[in-house]
Amino acid sequence: MNDISKYAIATLGSHTALQILKGAQDEGLKSIVICSQKSRRVYESYGVADEIIEISDYQDYFRIEERLIEQQAVVIPHGSFVSYVGADRITAEMKAMYFGSKGILRWESNREIEREWLKKAGVNVPKVFRDSSEIDRPVIIKFHGAGGGFGYFIAHTPEEFHEKIKEFPNQDDYVIQEYVVGVPMYVHYFYSPLSGELEIMSFDKRYESNADSIGRIAARDQLDADLHTSYTITGNIPVVVRESLLPMFFHIGEQVIEASKSLEGVPKGLYGPFCLEGIIDPQLNFRVFEISARIVAGTNPYTHGSPYSWLRYNIPMSTGRRIAREIRQGIEEGRLEDLLG
Ligand code: ADP
Repeated sequence: MNDISKYAIATLGSHTALQILKGAQDEGLKSIVICSQKSRRVYESYGVADEIIEISDYQDYFRIEERLIEQQAVVIPHGSFVSYVGADRITAEMKAMYFGSKGILRWESNREIEREWLKKAGVNVPKVFRDSSEIDRPVIIKFHGAGGGFGYFIAHTPEEFHEKIKEFPNQDDYVIQEYVVGVPMYVHYFYSPLSGELEIMSFDKRYESNADSIGRIAARDQLDADLHTSYTITGNIPVVVRESLLPMFFHIGEQVIEASKSLEGVPKGLYGPFCLEGIIDPQLNFRVFEISARIVAGTNPYTHGSPYSWLRYNIPMSTGRRIAREIRQGIEEGRLEDLLG
C-alpha cells in the first residue's frame, strides 16, 4: 500500500474550506489552506489547517502553486476557487494535482450548454423563453454572473418584463426562465470513480435575503413598501426529504453521471461531489434549474455528517471528508491518477 503521509490536501480559504480541511485531517492527510490575511484567523481558530499559506489576493494562486506541487498536494476546487482563479486558467495553466474533471467547468459555467447536458440526461428543466414576447406565465429573469441571485426579478407578462428590465439599462446578458412554484431543494451527491457508485450525501435549502423574510410582513405592507424580491444567499438550512422521494433522486443523479460521460472535453465524465439545484412542485416533479459540478456550500451544515451519511458510514462523514477518503483510497491503491483532472 502506498504511504499517504507523502501527500496533502489543499484548498482556498473560503466557501467549504473548513469541512474540506477537517475532512483531510480526519482521514490522516496533511491539510493546507491558502488564504488572505483577513481570513487567516478563521483557520487558526478552528485548527483545521496543518499549514497556512497566506496570499494578498486570491488571484495570486499561481505564485504559490510550486509549494503545493512540492508537497504533493491535491487541490480541491470549490465555488470560490473556480470564481477567483477562473475556469480558463484552471484548465490551461494549473499544474498542481486537481481533484475532479477540469473539462466539466466549461459545461457548468454556461447556462445554455449546462441545459443541453441536463436535457440529455432526461432531467426535467424549467422552460426557457427565447424572446420576451413569448412570456405567457410567471418567469424569473436571471442575469449572468449575478453574485448569488442578486437583481433577479419576476414578471408575468411581456409588458411587466419591459417595465422591470428598464431598471437594468446596461444588462443584456440574462435568461428568461419559467418560474416554478414549489419548494427549493438542493441535492448533494458524491460519485466515486473508484467504486463506480453514486451516493446521496445530504440536502439543503438556502436562506436568501430578502426572499426568505418577505412573508414576515403583511401583503399590504409589502405593496406599500414597493418591495423587490432578491435572492442574495446568506446561509444554508438542512433538509431531510420524504423518504419516498429518494429513489427519484438516486435515479436522476445516475442519469446525470451517465450523460456526463459523453460530454465533449470530459474524458472521465463527472465525478466527486456535485449538486442538483431545483424546485419540487406540488405534483412532486423535481424541476432542475442548475447543476454545480463540485462541492457546494449547502453541505456546510453537515461538518459532522448528515442523517444520510450517518446511515452509510456510522462515523461523522462530511462531503469534505468523503473527498479526502476517496483520495486516500486512490493513493493507497495506486489509483490516484483516476481522480485527477
Ligand atoms: P445563483 O446560481 O445565481 O445563485 P440560482 O439559480 O440558484 O441563482 O437562483 C436563485 C434563487 O432563485 C433560488 O432561491 C432559487 O430557488 C430561485 N429560482 C431559480 N430558478 C428558479 C425557477 N426557475 N423557478 C423558481 N425559482 C427559481
